[in-house]
Amino acid sequence: MRINVSQQLKSSIGSVRNYEVSEAVSIAGGDSMVEGKVVLVRTDQGILAEATLHTEVEVTCSRCLSLFNYPLTLNIEEEYFPVRDVVSGISLSLPGESGCFTIDERHVLDLTEAICQYVLLAVPMKPLCREDCAGLCPTCGHNLNRGPCDCLPQEADPHRSELGKLALASDILVAEQKGVE
Ligand SMILES: [Zn+2]
Ligand SMILES: [Zn+2]
Repeated sequence: MRINVSQQLKSSIGSVRNYEVSEAVSIAGGDSMVEGKVVLVRTDQGILAEATLHTEVEVTCSRCLSLFNYPLTLNIEEEYFPVRDVVSGISLSLPGESGCFTIDERHVLDLTEAICQYVLLAVPMKPLCREDCAGLCPTCGHNLNRGPCDCLPQEADPHRSELGKLALASDILVAEQKGVE
């Protein structure tokens, strides 16, 4: 997601540009559509990018291992520093630690790397395709979201079946409570 900021780099501190963006960005090996608003503000040393972006990334359910699209809203706020002065063409030293975001020699500010970093932070460690994902049968590996399998171990063990009923009862209770709200 590249924006040419050569004109804005020549403008005064505090000047603001607004962009509506909608494009495919390569995130974690797959292309995801990224849409939203980007506000660029000229700072004394560079450009502050404030973006609210919506996207979906494909993740694997930690319980049933199926792939599903996980919707994300990213609130990005990062300052970008030019590596070259837009007027004189002189190379500039970057402030602070290396690894800060830069505006390249052609005065292009590329949000792709920030988007990828924010996506990594926003995706949960153990995503679930849905809150009540039934997971896989521990015996045959069948995806229990698609209905029961032919395995019997849960029924064969009376203790486990009692636990199962308890879990079921509490699920129903939760469902009822949700219904009341
Ligand atoms: Zn699942
Ligand atoms: Zn099974």
